[in-house]
Amino acid sequence: MVIECRHVWDYISEFIDDSLPPETKDLVQKHLANCEICSAILDSTRNILILTADSRVFELPVGYSERLHARLAREIHGARSHPDEPEPD
Ligand SMILES: [Zn+2]
Repeated sequence: MVIECRHVWDYISEFIDDSLPPETKDLVQKHLANCEICSAILDSTRNILILTADSRVFELPVGYSERLHARLAREIHGARSHPDEPEPD
């Protein structure tokens, strides 16, 4: 059995996750060995996954939103403490 490129594209995320049945994985691997297009797609898909995983590093630090809310509350409170300034309507 020979699989076509579009079949490989369907399988690619499962291939990366290693959740394909062994026979299917084998077919995909054989196709990838002979197909520059699909191996390039596999590489770029992996790169995207790596980038997505790396973005977790940039999660907001614990307590950030609490500090932000506290700051906003102070600023709102501060603005209201000036009687000369009309309340925004
Ligand atoms: Zn292909």
